Parts: sequence; C-alpha cells; structure tokens
Amino acid sequence: MYDDNNIFAKILRKEIPCTLVHEDDVSLFFYDIRPQSKIHVLGIPKIKCIDFSDFINSADSKTVSLFFESVEFVLDKLKIKEKGYRLVSNSGIDGGQEVPHFHIHILAGEKIGKIN
Ligand code: AMP
Repeated sequence: MYDDNNIFAKILRKEIPCTLVHEDDVSLFFYDIRPQSKIHVLGIPKIKCIDFSDFINSADSKTVSLFFESVEFVLDKLKIKEKGYRLVSNSGIDGGQEVPHFHIHILAGEKIGKIN
C-alpha cells in the first residue's frame, strides 16, 4: 500500500523543499540530495504510485505518456543528450529502492560506471 508519509509525497505536498528542475501537471523533477553523478535529477509522477509497475498499472495511458514526455523535456533542458545519460528506476528490496514513490533517476555529466 502507498505510504503517504514517504519523502517524495512530502515534496509533492510542498511540506519539504526540493531544488526544482521542472514541474508540470503530471510530474515533478528535482535534484537528488545525495548525487551519484555530476548531474543527478529525480523525476516523479504526481499520482500516488509505489514503483514502475504500480505506475504503469494504475495511471491512465495519457498520464504515463505525459510523464515520459516530461522526462524527454528535462533531458533537453539539462542539455545532456549529446554526451549521454543513464535512466534508472529502482524497485523493491532487490532493486534497492529507498523511497516508495515511483521515480526515475537521470544520471549524467560524467561517464557513469557499469551497473554491475
Ligand atoms: P531510490 O534508492 O531509487 O529509492 O532513490 C531514492 C533517492 O532519493 C536517493 O538517491 C536519495 O539520495 C534521494 N533523496 C532522498 N531524500 C531526498 C530529498 N529530500 N531530496 C532529494 N532527493 C532525495
């Protein structure tokens, strides 16, 4: 079940601050507080969803589409498409997910190491 007290839910409710990159009707993008690369941005949908599968299965297709279009918009805004980037979404215990609100990590700004 979705935890309304997770840190990203609090950011969405503006109860705690974030360093904003982009906001629109369906999504919010902000800098990760503990960056793992020179550029590390998190993108979250505004609907309550725990992970990728929950998002895909609970959001309507228009919302899913708009969210990923927003990811593309932010890639442009960050000017990282030419040199490259990595998109990551962790899910559950084996995936190493810490915050149970679906999010995409955008990692860029330097060569990102191998996943394993
Ligand atoms: P994950 O392990 O995929 O759940 O990633 C959660 C990410 O959220 C981590 O990279 C954290 O550094 C990041 N994070 C946690 N709290 C905050 C916060 N208040 N503002 C920005 N990023 C955060």
